[in-house]
Order: sequence, then structure tokens, then C-alpha cells
Amino acid sequence: MKPLSRAFARLVLLFFALGIFFLAVNELIPYRTLGDRYRVMDTAYWIKNTLRITGIVLLVNGGIQWVRNLRCPYCGRGYAMPWWRKGEKHFCDRCGREIVFDDPEDPTEKRKGE
Ligand SMILES: [Zn+2]
Repeated sequence: MKPLSRAFARLVLLFFALGIFFLAVNELIPYRTLGDRYRVMDTAYWIKNTLRITGIVLLVNGGIQWVRNLRCPYCGRGYAMPWWRKGEKHFCDRCGREIVFDDPEDPTEKRKGE
């Protein structure tokens, strides 16, 4: 059975991290208003909007990629968490089989087994 791609899991994590970062920066930029009703459409406004939209797109895309590609390779129903580190053992909550990533063999792990 083909193991899950560690590079792909990192990519999904990166999507989430960047998405959250962009949304956070977006929150830090206040809207400037004229009186109580009119928003000023200045550069800050466009930057804020771009950050918000990009953040949302990154989060949604990360979510879609995760749901599509980080599934249990055996039954396809359980999910693998992209933040699982190598060396940790995790099992599918649906079929109980171990979900493995394509990490290179760790030489220290081998020595322990001898
Ligand atoms: Zn499974």
C-alpha cells in the first residue's frame, strides 16, 4: 500500500499556517471610515481585502486538499492529520491499520530495534 506523502502533508499545513497568518494580519488593519457610514477605499482597504480573500482561499484549499488526499490508504475513510510527526505511530480510527507517511528511514530507530 502506498504511504501518504509527507511533503503533501507539509504543504497542507503551510496552507493553513499562511491562511491563518493572512487573516490575522487582515484583522490588524482597521477600516478607515468617513463619519459612521463610508469606508475609505484607500490602499490599506485593498490590502486588507486581498489579505482576507487570500487567507480564506488558502484555508479552503488546504481543507479540500486534506480531505481529498490525506486519507487512510487502506480504507479511505479515516483521516491522517498533517501535523503528525515522523516517528509517531498513528492508526486509522475506521479500520485500525497504521497510517504511514513516506518518511525516509530514521537510522536511530533501526538501532533501537536491534
Ligand atoms: Zn482505514
